[in-house]
Amino acid sequence: MAKVRGAIVVNQQRCKGCNLCVISCPTGAISLHPMEVNDKGYHYCHMSQPDLCIGCASCGIVCPDGCIAVYKAKL
Ligand code: SF4
Ligand code: SF4
Repeated sequence: MAKVRGAIVVNQQRCKGCNLCVISCPTGAISLHPMEVNDKGYHYCHMSQPDLCIGCASCGIVCPDGCIAVYKAKL
């Protein structure tokens, strides 16, 4: 069976650092950036463990501000 790998693109300037996406991710692929903040001063979401993303789209669905686009690829 083909493996599915995912990737996300975060609109970092729109992110308000609410952490909902991080909690929703079943694999721990994303986290709030520990150092960097956006122009509004929020620690934004980023892929801290890109290899773990399975493209399930949970993060994109729960984000209240539609900041996350999810992409999927079969390997
Ligand atoms: S698509 Fe799924 S596995 Fe990938 S970062 Fe979002 S919640 Fe995590
Ligand atoms: S759910 Fe959306 S606004 Fe909240 S931290 Fe994640 S990307 Fe940012």
